Amino acid sequence: MQIIKGIAVSPGIIVGRAFLVGTAEQVVPHRIIDPTEVTAQHARLHAALAAASAEIDELRERTRRELGPEPAKIFEFHAGLLRDRVLVSAVERRVANDFVTAEQAVADQFRVLVDQFNRMGNEVFEQKANDILDLERRVLGRLMGEEKSRLAQLDAPAIVIAHELTPSQAAGMDRSKVIAIATDLGGRTGHTSIVARALGLPAVVGCQRLSVEVEDGDQLIVDGNDGVVILRPDSRTLEEYRRKQERSQRSRAAMRELSGHEAVTKCGARIQLMGNIEFPEEVESMLANGGDGVGLYRTEFLWLTRKEPPTEQDHMDAYLRAITLLKGKPLTIRTCDLGADKYTQAQMEEPERNPFLGLRSIRHSLANPAEFKLQLRAILRASAHGPVKMMFPLVSNLMELRQGKLMLADISEELEDEGIAFDRQMPVGVMIEVPSAALMARVFAAESNFFSIGTNDLVQYTLAVDRGNERVAHLYQSAHPAVVYLAKSIVRAARSAQIDCSLCGEMAGEPLFSMLLLGMGLRTLSMVPDQIPVIKRVIRSVTIEQCEHLARRVGSFDSERQVETALRDELRKLDPDVFGQWVSE
Ligand code: PEP
Ligand code: MG
Repeated sequence: MQIIKGIAVSPGIIVGRAFLVGTAEQVVPHRIIDPTEVTAQHARLHAALAAASAEIDELRERTRRELGPEPAKIFEFHAGLLRDRVLVSAVERRVANDFVTAEQAVADQFRVLVDQFNRMGNEVFEQKANDILDLERRVLGRLMGEEKSRLAQLDAPAIVIAHELTPSQAAGMDRSKVIAIATDLGGRTGHTSIVARALGLPAVVGCQRLSVEVEDGDQLIVDGNDGVVILRPDSRTLEEYRRKQERSQRSRAAMRELSGHEAVTKCGARIQLMGNIEFPEEVESMLANGGDGVGLYRTEFLWLTRKEPPTEQDHMDAYLRAITLLKGKPLTIRTCDLGADKYTQAQMEEPERNPFLGLRSIRHSLANPAEFKLQLRAILRASAHGPVKMMFPLVSNLMELRQGKLMLADISEELEDEGIAFDRQMPVGVMIEVPSAALMARVFAAESNFFSIGTNDLVQYTLAVDRGNERVAHLYQSAHPAVVYLAKSIVRAARSAQIDCSLCGEMAGEPLFSMLLLGMGLRTLSMVPDQIPVIKRVIRSVTIEQCEHLARRVGSFDSERQVETALRDELRKLDPDVFGQWVSE
């Protein structure tokens, strides 16, 4: 038995079998093959080598054309190596003798060669070692690119284990087969974690070397409440976790019973609790959990779940489906938030050096006006069918907002000319998730109809901590006084401009922060639907005065520890039995 600690990102406890998934340039998963699979693995190997050779030939030809014959010679070594019989036979033997997969054999044999070159202690040979690593990545990329279909081939319920999963891999998972997720990399508010929560899959990320320790088919326990993965558990541990699993399911079921009650404080203030969704079908879960509408629809999943960019009709179909399911409740559509960890990096020939500071979100949309226009047209058209609001993500300067609104105005005119119905009063909002926008909230408030605070990004950009990086996860502190200060000032700016302000970062669904957020003046919170009942429970246990008092006190603290301790104490005081599990240190 082995216990691996990670970061709890999606609640629930699952016992099941491991299913390893890999991606190129990352850790190659261990899998012992059946002796009857050797021929098939050899065939995969040869196909991958041939494809990599073709890539190199193309590269050599392009270099020759563009730079001349001399630089093109660099690739002769690469091309030769891929056809080198000694190397290829060594890889074949490793598969046939040790029953490992083709990717494992490639990784092993290429590394042997790299070590040999490195030991020669000369710069030329060191460069060759780098070339070999580059080739290894190329061949592995070919082999492990098949992992997508491996995931699709999953035929029995299993726990997906990976070094890293992309949000689109997570979104494309067969929910009837995947029962939990655990990865080596990742942080709590990374998009893969958000998708796991949306799918209701227990998940633990940031488990460091998990994918190396686990073998395909191993029995595992994934504890998404405490952030632990237990490999090959003994019978006593299994028994203990089965009991924990029952307790956790009972407590969630009890919370759900509140779904019919209103989210009203003890002093009578009505709070809007909305759901964050990635797919229209999640509206059902939002309603079942007693939500008031959709506060954030992450429409980039329309791109992430198909090969080609969505057409205007694809947009319309999704929006109309959500509107129908919502039966008159409001839908807040966020325009496409691609970039950073979502889609575009994988699509780029040359990934950005610093993608979270790169061409993401509204910047990406403005740089792709044709695609953006289709989306804006579809949103406007959908607004004729139900209460729709629209907001732009990651706005960092006023020009972006103005450009976005200008495009919207042009499209509105177009629709008028075409005689197509739309809501001329559709509210247009801004997500405040960058410090520059937070600091200039008053200016943005004058040009928008509402704000939605995106704390997942606001925390990362304010504290300079990558939200998806497990190495700095301990520094990702939503309770940091700088974040509290910025959030307060955004709410204040919205109030003085008399526009609505909601909060849709993961913080909205964490009971620890509910009193603080209410105390700051927020009356609309949008969260993963499953969290609505517990937040409702907090709201029904407090008065606004109590919350305002706490927010004032917290506003004078200098450290996140002080803030967190105060929030924890207050929550515990409300009802230690009910909220105990959310306030453990
Ligand atoms: C946020 O940044 O808080 C947010 C809600 O947007 P996303 O998590 O999709 O970046
Ligand atoms: Mg964001």
